[in-house]
Amino acid sequence: MMYQKELDIALSAVSAAARLCRGARQTLVDAESVSKKDRSPVTIADFGSQAIISLALGAAFPNDPIVGEEDAAILRENDFLRRKVHELVAMEAGPVEESPVLEAIDRGAGEVDFSKRFWTVDPIDGTKGFLRGEQYAVALALVEGGRVVLGVLGCPNFSVGGAESGGALFYAVAGGGAFSAPIGDRDMAGHALNALPIRVDETLDPALARFCESLESGHSDHETHQKICERLGVTAPPCRMDSQAKYAAVASGGASIYLRLPRGTEYREKIWDHAAGALIVEAAGGRVTDFSGNALSFASGRTLEGHRGILATNGRLHDKVLQAIEASVML
Ligand code: AMP
Ligand code: MG
Repeated sequence: MMYQKELDIALSAVSAAARLCRGARQTLVDAESVSKKDRSPVTIADFGSQAIISLALGAAFPNDPIVGEEDAAILRENDFLRRKVHELVAMEAGPVEESPVLEAIDRGAGEVDFSKRFWTVDPIDGTKGFLRGEQYAVALALVEGGRVVLGVLGCPNFSVGGAESGGALFYAVAGGGAFSAPIGDRDMAGHALNALPIRVDETLDPALARFCESLESGHSDHETHQKICERLGVTAPPCRMDSQAKYAAVASGGASIYLRLPRGTEYREKIWDHAAGALIVEAAGGRVTDFSGNALSFASGRTLEGHRGILATNGRLHDKVLQAIEASVML
């Protein structure tokens, strides 16, 4: 299969990062999370997760650039946080000095030619969900020529099929179908075990559709989503959850529609918040576009330029939802 080595490395890196996050969450104290300049929270687990993934990618694909959400500036100024992150990473990755850990984190902030091949990582997507003990995701995607060719989501609090578990991995390679697997189940070579194909649901009637959106009302316009759903005739209340777990829900048939219209016109969606999830939904038979129906391009930089609103569906409902959007939203 194309990208087999990339997939193996990505699955084992995301699993390790997800384990690090779970461990850190169990013992997290207030001093281990701080506010970034944009006032969003960041924790020792966000930094640790990005370090683990960057170290794994750097070892396997030393020439591949990485676009990550975090950089190490806060850690370079804060001895306590730096020590804690170093401890976490060493626990998962084995003995490693402090400076390669900081350099690995900073590798996510370098110059990148976005028209070529690069990885994009969100070490904890949905940090607020992580802090609340709800949904969050470790997200990793490989982009080539503006197209996502591989995506992995590690969702430590996601249970597939209602089973109590250590969380789920969701992954896809373009053209190869989408799969989920328990995060913990791996063979001696580190390959994911017990993987099952996943598929979007078959709902064609909006009255039966389940729709999801961000839990954070600051991240998307719940009132406009409600208008769109009323026009469509969706009857179920929204399912609100943090992170790209929403893409995982659509891809695995737990939801039929994911709406995301940012409040105001200033906010630009970050590529690492969508690359992995969007590919997984498409590979599971769904569709992902902006609110005008355009396919997402990941070649324009760290943000999704020229796209307003994001719509992921089971595919069958996509055109109906786009019509309801056109009738309800001034874009
Ligand atoms: P979610 O949990 O789906 O609400 O998404 C979490 C992501 O929302 C974070 O990783 C941020 O990158 C992103 N985010 C932060 N601020 C905003 C905003 N004002 N509008 C939309 N997304 C945002
Ligand atoms: Mg994020």
